[in-house]
Parts: sequence; C-alpha cells; structure tokens
Amino acid sequence: MPRPFRCRHCGLDIPADAPGTSHRNHCPSCLWSRHLDDATPGDRAADCGAAMEPIAVSVRGDGEWVLVHRCGGCGELDLNRIAGDDNPLLLTRLAVRPLAQPPFPLELLARL
Ligand SMILES: [Zn+2]
Ligand SMILES: [Zn+2]
Repeated sequence: MPRPFRCRHCGLDIPADAPGTSHRNHCPSCLWSRHLDDATPGDRAADCGAAMEPIAVSVRGDGEWVLVHRCGGCGELDLNRIAGDDNPLLLTRLAVRPLAQPPFPLELLARL
C-alpha cells in the first residue's frame, strides 16, 4: 500500500491515493518528486533519495501526458504519468517552455 508523504519541495502533505494513477510519485502542487524508484514505478529500489525537478512534459502515442523528472543528486531522468489532480498551470507552463525559448527564430517556419 502506498503511504502518504510530505513534499520536500513545497511542504504539502500528499495523500497516497491519486486519481488516474496507482503510483503517486510526485507532488500534485509543485510537481517535484524524489528519487526513490529504480527500474519499475513503486519499486522504491533507488537509494539516491534526492529531489527530482520536473523539467518537461512529453506525450505518449495514446495522448497521455508524462512528466520528465531530472534528479538533482545523480542526474537520472525519469518518466512519470501525470495524475488527475496535478497542477494544470504548472503542467502547461512546462509544455510551452520550449516554444517560449526557441533555439531558432520562429519566423523561419513561415519560409519552409
Ligand atoms: Zn510540492
Ligand atoms: Zn538520483
């Protein structure tokens, strides 16, 4: 059984049951996570334990959004399903961030 935990980043007390996923592994308010799992979600095999920053949103083939977390301790990247009560404003901000900072002038697209 997943246990409730306190977010190390924003201090929120997080109930273990999350709508839409069986393994809540990040804070629904600030989206930060901790490096606890190794290979499989919920295995709690990693002994790193450092804070993981949400750095991007990706979309799976079926349209499901996944959060990309980067561990501040060991640098590992992790993909995590979003939960039904994740902060929609922060999710949207992550999703549009690359468009706000394009590596080339967006006017180029008009000439393609
Ligand atoms: Zn938090
Ligand atoms: Zn780590």
